[in-house]
Amino acid sequence: MSNRHSLLRQLPAIDKILNCPEIAALAKSNPHLILREAAQKTVERIRKQLLAEQAPVPDLSFESVIEQVQQKIKELSRPSLRKVINVTGTVLHTNLGRAPLSNAALLAIQETARSYSNLEYNLDLGERGQRFSHVEELLCKLTGGEAATVVNNNAGAVLLSLAALASGRSALVSRGEMIEIGGSFRIPDVMSAGGVKLVEVGTTNKTHLSDFHDAIDPDVALIMKVHTSNYRILGFTDSVSGEQLAELGHKHGIPVLEDLGSGLLLDLTPYGLPREPTVREVLATGIDLVTFSGDKLLGGPQAGVIVGRKTVIDRLRRHPMARAMRIDKLTLAAFEATLRLYLDPQKALKGIPALNMLTTPADELKKRCTRLLPKISKAIEGKYRAEIVPSSSTVGGGALPLTELPGWAIAVTPLNLSINSLITKLRRTEPPVIGRIHENQMLIDPRTLFDDEIDQLCAAFSQAAGES
Ligand SMILES: *Cc1c(COP(=O)(O)O)cnc(C)c1O
Repeated sequence: MSNRHSLLRQLPAIDKILNCPEIAALAKSNPHLILREAAQKTVERIRKQLLAEQAPVPDLSFESVIEQVQQKIKELSRPSLRKVINVTGTVLHTNLGRAPLSNAALLAIQETARSYSNLEYNLDLGERGQRFSHVEELLCKLTGGEAATVVNNNAGAVLLSLAALASGRSALVSRGEMIEIGGSFRIPDVMSAGGVKLVEVGTTNKTHLSDFHDAIDPDVALIMKVHTSNYRILGFTDSVSGEQLAELGHKHGIPVLEDLGSGLLLDLTPYGLPREPTVREVLATGIDLVTFSGDKLLGGPQAGVIVGRKTVIDRLRRHPMARAMRIDKLTLAAFEATLRLYLDPQKALKGIPALNMLTTPADELKKRCTRLLPKISKAIEGKYRAEIVPSSSTVGGGALPLTELPGWAIAVTPLNLSINSLITKLRRTEPPVIGRIHENQMLIDPRTLFDDEIDQLCAAFSQAAGES
């Protein structure tokens, strides 16, 4: 038996760990299940390390074991889904939860969550009501649509539209719009999931009205236009406008659907963002049905919105899939509150964090960097160097893919360490800090940083520097 094997006997028994004063004191505020699991996992990890001949011999002192168990208890007690600080500057970061919600939306969630509500109860008539009714009128006001409904997300909105309008028949889509967005949403796959036969028309770079016209036969139940949210086809290109498709569809009695991806309700060009059609403008082309997300440029909770012609929307509502995709009441509360802010565009721009971040001018970002720099420099003294650099942020969420929002950032350069070790340390602070690397520097983009996170951010840097 090797020397390391004989050390196994020194590992403390689980009960000895649980009964020692340090751990027993934690029994009041922690479930026994967690304490036991922490003790078992810690001992198991030390045992494995002992048996791995190449690894250094672990510290077997009782104090060290207890310290590790305490650390493990912390880890196991912490929620899995939790707040992070986003300094990537990407406003609608899909991996970081897309749009942060407005205060109005948070209040609405809390109010609705802690009591009963009229979710599906019509207070005027004293009878059963419809959950979508809480946002339908608002959506119509804000987009000019005749009717509106909401489901779980935009992927659901597209799938429901396809299934309800064209299941068992075919739908026309331009080859230039055969998109894939992240998370396995691909037009051909969504079509087949909806039971719809996809008929591709035109070519990758050019599709003409005549391509759609020539493909129409009695089996065609839908014409679909897809917003190429996350890429652009440039050069020798041509696509068919919404007006042209709507006119063609109406002539043949075929509904026309546009998957808009991001639901822009306000024109943001006055704030330096590129021209992007609003939902109102798309509906004005005569398109029958528009679908979009609640948590992209709209800046609300995850939801899928469908606005357009009432007769078509009624068909969607009656489809069995509508029930399977129904929007949750907390989301609905947040969504209604977000939409209400849009009734006054200035309130929306100020109160909806995503809109506020997207429209923050570069000189304001520079001011924030100037205020932040001394605090960060102090936190990382001696280990890293920090300076203000021109930088740009992206919108994210597959919206406006080529847009670079001009701004400023603080660039942190390690003096002796690798940049990856800093990024890793910051991911492990509480709350974790997520930044982006650019040319061996970490950039802190103040666009997506909330004021009340500044102290936590500095504490995280100070911790990371202390460990280095
Ligand atoms: C983002 C996007 C979707 C999916 O929307 P989710 O709300 O994420 O389900 C569908 N189509 C387009 C064009 C998109 O940009």
